[in-house]
Amino acid sequence: MREIESLRSVLGDRLSTDAAEIDAFARDSSRAQPEGMPVALVHAETTADVSAALAWADAGGVPVSVRGAGTGLSGGAVGYPGGLVISLARMNRIVEIDAGNRLATVEAGVITADLDAAAGEHGLFFPPDPASAKWSTIGGNIAVNAGGLRCVSHGVTTDSVAGLEVVLADGRVMHTGSRTRKNVTGYDLTSLFTGSEGTLGVITAATVRLKPIPPGEPRTFRASFDDIGDAGAAVTAVVASENTPEVLELMDALSVEIIESFQPSGIPVPGAAILVGQTVGRDAQEKAEKILEIVRAHRGGDLEISASDSLLEARRLANPALTAQGLRVSCDVGVPVTELAAIFRGIDEIARQHGRRISTVAHAGDGNLHPTVEADDTPEEHRAAEAAIDDITRLALSLGGTVTGEHGVGSVKKHELSWQLDAATLDVQAAIKRALDPRGILTPGRGI
Ligand SMILES: Cc1cc2nc3c(=O)[nH]c(=O)nc-3n(C[C@H](O)[C@H](O)[C@H](O)COP(=O)(O)OP(=O)(O)OC[C@H]3O[C@@H](n4cnc5c(N)ncnc54)[C@H](O)[C@@H]3O)c2cc1C
Repeated sequence: MREIESLRSVLGDRLSTDAAEIDAFARDSSRAQPEGMPVALVHAETTADVSAALAWADAGGVPVSVRGAGTGLSGGAVGYPGGLVISLARMNRIVEIDAGNRLATVEAGVITADLDAAAGEHGLFFPPDPASAKWSTIGGNIAVNAGGLRCVSHGVTTDSVAGLEVVLADGRVMHTGSRTRKNVTGYDLTSLFTGSEGTLGVITAATVRLKPIPPGEPRTFRASFDDIGDAGAAVTAVVASENTPEVLELMDALSVEIIESFQPSGIPVPGAAILVGQTVGRDAQEKAEKILEIVRAHRGGDLEISASDSLLEARRLANPALTAQGLRVSCDVGVPVTELAAIFRGIDEIARQHGRRISTVAHAGDGNLHPTVEADDTPEEHRAAEAAIDDITRLALSLGGTVTGEHGVGSVKKHELSWQLDAATLDVQAAIKRALDPRGILTPGRGI
């Protein structure tokens, strides 16, 4: 095809039209499937490659999907029929660790855990800690404003982004933010692109904030609950106390059962839920003890404090363990932390009403839950599971929550957008999209 050849003349073997390779890069880790195959895949190695690819796509009105590592759970990186896939995976250079200013400058395809390890050599760490950190890219984390296990203490990805290099839909390159701690020059475009899910521009590089690794040995702690409401109330009380943990996660009994059958670690299946958490700093032991005092007051039992990380490892296994179960229809709703007990009880009720098993793990300290509805891999089962997820989402909204706490809207939550955002807000979002991507080539039909 002549048009593709014109792009190949610029990109050479960084442009692939191999069907099997395109297929592999046209999917993410969600239940969304491509509706047809893209025509080409760009293995971008430089910002200029991304710029050339977007200028080409914009001129021809070709839909573009943007891909980091494809660990996304909202269908945002799924390829378009006749479209172009731009992969950032080869742009994986850590350009600079600036220990003096606690900043790192990285290309978008750097793996999250690799940045954390590189920062560690300077006594620093990268706070965002998605459970997918070993595979996900920084660009992907920023594009969805990912959360993770340490958010209760450090906030979400946007709290660690100082500036971005972005290629706009027409191929122009722009830079946002600054290396200073304070910067109020112009609109906050760093925040606008953070969480824009590949719909406003392609992030090619980022300057991110690092923090010093806390001194002392971390402690992990665990408690079991026979009543899910007690577990929710305990989390609310811990978050309201002065003993902020680094991590505070809940796994319900069904999740623990599934994780233990996937990779046994000896955690006993609780009556209702297990709370796991971590404290850091020289007073980590003391803080963990104080937290467990609060937990005991809310009928938590089987209390344990440990120097080992194994309890958190079990939590990190939740996603692969659930995936191994077959079709997973899950979501990432959020509620104010005071509503945790209410939403857990409500999910139990929805499971009963729909006659389905629903397992839930939660970044409990943030009020961010991942309920997963069990379903066989048939269209009818899929629809039935989606209906249960929709009910959970409506429940979260009725409690003052959000349809997506960290995975993004993508394609799988697009129908829920107007449940949360009013008409004027939707108009403003659409106006921003039109201003930055007038031909609508960037991740069209998703996100907003
Ligand atoms: C096992 C597992 C555990 C997970 N745990 C967590 C968790 O704890 N917290 C959490 O928040 N998420 C979690 N996720 C979801 C996922 O890892 C995150 O959403 C992650 O940020 C996606 O990164 P990625 O590089 O894989 O992006 P992709 O999946 O490739 O893309 C995700 C979205 O970002 C866009 N995008 C990617 N790169 C760019 C770029 N450079 N410029 C513009 N747009 C881009 C894509 O178009 C797409 O819309 C988990 C997923 C798995 C499979």
